[in-house]
Amino acid sequence: MIGSSTFLGSGLSGLPGGRGLNIAHEAVDRHVLDGRGDHVALRFLALPSDDPSDGGSVPGFDLTYARLAEATSRFANALDALGVAPGETVATLTGRAPELYSAALGALKARAVYCPLFSAYGPDPVQQRLARGDARVVVTTAADYDRKIAPGRSSLPDLRHVIIVDADHGLPDGAGVVSFAELVGAAEPEFTIAPTDPEDPALLHFTSGTTGNPKGAVHVHGAVIAHHATAAEALGLRSDDVFWCTADPGWVTGTSYGIVAPLTHGVTTLVDPAEFDPQRWYRTLEQQRVTVWYTAPTAIRLLMRVGPAVAGGHDLSALRVVASVGEPLDPEAVRWGADVLGTPIRDNWWQTETGGIMIANRPADDVRPGSMGRPLDGIEAAIAVVDDQNEPLLHDGEPVFATDGTSGMLAIRRGWPSMFRSYLHDEERYRRCFAGDWYLSGDLARRDADGWFWFVGRADDVVKTAGHLVGPFEVESALMEHPAVAEAAVIGLPDPVAGNVLKAFVTLNVGQQDDDATRRDIQGFGRTRLGSIAPRRVEIVDSLPHTRSGKVMRRLLRARELGLDEGDISGLGTT
Ligand code: ATP
Ligand code: MG
Repeated sequence: MIGSSTFLGSGLSGLPGGRGLNIAHEAVDRHVLDGRGDHVALRFLALPSDDPSDGGSVPGFDLTYARLAEATSRFANALDALGVAPGETVATLTGRAPELYSAALGALKARAVYCPLFSAYGPDPVQQRLARGDARVVVTTAADYDRKIAPGRSSLPDLRHVIIVDADHGLPDGAGVVSFAELVGAAEPEFTIAPTDPEDPALLHFTSGTTGNPKGAVHVHGAVIAHHATAAEALGLRSDDVFWCTADPGWVTGTSYGIVAPLTHGVTTLVDPAEFDPQRWYRTLEQQRVTVWYTAPTAIRLLMRVGPAVAGGHDLSALRVVASVGEPLDPEAVRWGADVLGTPIRDNWWQTETGGIMIANRPADDVRPGSMGRPLDGIEAAIAVVDDQNEPLLHDGEPVFATDGTSGMLAIRRGWPSMFRSYLHDEERYRRCFAGDWYLSGDLARRDADGWFWFVGRADDVVKTAGHLVGPFEVESALMEHPAVAEAAVIGLPDPVAGNVLKAFVTLNVGQQDDDATRRDIQGFGRTRLGSIAPRRVEIVDSLPHTRSGKVMRRLLRARELGLDEGDISGLGTT
């Protein structure tokens, strides 16, 4: 496979001398060889600070492609010096610091497997992922090491090296604990990437754990072909763009589209280390002249909730494309984008397992509010007929496909470059994701006669009520059109007559009355809009439970409602 020309014509170069394909070469070194070393690769925004010695804020700074090439080469050399072998796992557990980017891309240069961990996780989820990911190295802060890793060190025999990014006040105690600054300071700034087969493992991503325990999806270097192509097609990325992906680098979106894809296009990517703050976000979009913005429905709903006045007065004219992923985007949010941001929000669909965007409202197309879009070039998507349990029906081992307009399981024909190659330590589960030539996504959707796809729900979230199969999204979207409603989550509760009845939990927009009249009004609104699939009960709540990656956890609401033990169903610390 090395030297194969499958990626030629993809806009990528491959390693010099036909030595294969390596993500870090395409994301970083290639641009330096092309004479764009001075272009800003990563722009770290200034951070407000409580520490008076910082003068109220930590200044921002830029890292050019040349500097990033150097920093990542140093890290790759440092891994070599530590004796880390290709294929071994290098995890990060830090916020959006420059060291995270050096470690991620440096690990890829060294052909280690990069595994991001979300920095806000507590000790249990961190230790479980380090153990299940066979982590050999972790890059983290002194405080996170002491609190989240050291107490479980005895159950992490594979973990040999702990690289501390903030060792200025001393190193924590522990075997193999070293300072990041010292380690990379002693390493050479040049590194020649060894031949890399496009099928060599590169990335290990744990899923969000929205509907069960997170799974470790393994991706290969060849995935970069999809990262690059999909960013052009679904996000419209070009090399002169200023791009902002708000996903945390601890998640697959924050890696595929927060690090890899934009860098392969040679754009300037913003990194904002601060927490969500509507004022700051509008200011960032304006002052940085962001051209392409990739965010999530949860964030959009929070912006909608504070009202359009906060956006008023900001010049957002640089914005060319705004896209969203992670959860369904209700039609109201799409239109809000057009009104308030000056461009409709383009929904797209993918998963940790697919490694990159599969289905999208492309900038080249008109938007269809409420639809997740159409399959990208080279992606074949279809709807498989499901049985009563939402399991796909098979014929000779292949799925049976539904007619247009019918709901069923969204399936993708296997073989796209960023397809996951395994679930780590769970071969059986991996095998069950496929039927013949098709990957079965676990999401229900339907395709219309024009070939656009419409999300119905996760197979585990859809509800059968009075003979109808109802996707929570359809009901939630309708409720969110009520002027008082900010966010909605709909679940099914067992009922002796209907099988299940629907219950909606809603949060209210800022300034709305939380009282019974509002509740009844929302319920009536639902009945008018939805008829027989309107929720039987509506409850106003202050907030809805989300996973760390921002997805509504309907199963948690359901467990609470039914008095089930939340611990059994909430996954590995995702709440
Ligand atoms: P787990 O598999 O551990 O339960 P998860 O599925 O939430 O967690 P991710 O891979 O982060 O983990 O999320 C992918 C899922 O998010 C998709 O399968 C789908 O259910 C949902 N999703 C992503 N984008 C969209 C979208 N545009 N519209 C609707 N749902 C989406
Ligand atoms: Mg999933």
